[in-house]
Amino acid sequence: VKHPVNAQLQREAARFALRFACEDCVHFDADRVRCTHGYVERPSRADLAELGGLLAFCKEFELDEGK
Ligand code: SF4
Repeated sequence: VKHPVNAQLQREAARFALRFACEDCVHFDADRVRCTHGYVERPSRADLAELGGLLAFCKEFELDEGK
């Protein structure tokens, strides 16, 4: 699912500490900088900074509570 990045999304993401990026997902291998499921499109925290861009939400995202 992709969602346009607008000011409302940025505000709400900050307010609710939205986690969506691979860096926050249990399936992300930080040492190899890759998704262990093999997905090549990797949602990044930086994607939220670009007004007018698209933010991808991965359906297999699982929050890594240890991060
Ligand atoms: S499952 Fe999705 S959110 Fe998690 S690391 Fe892979 S691509 Fe990123």
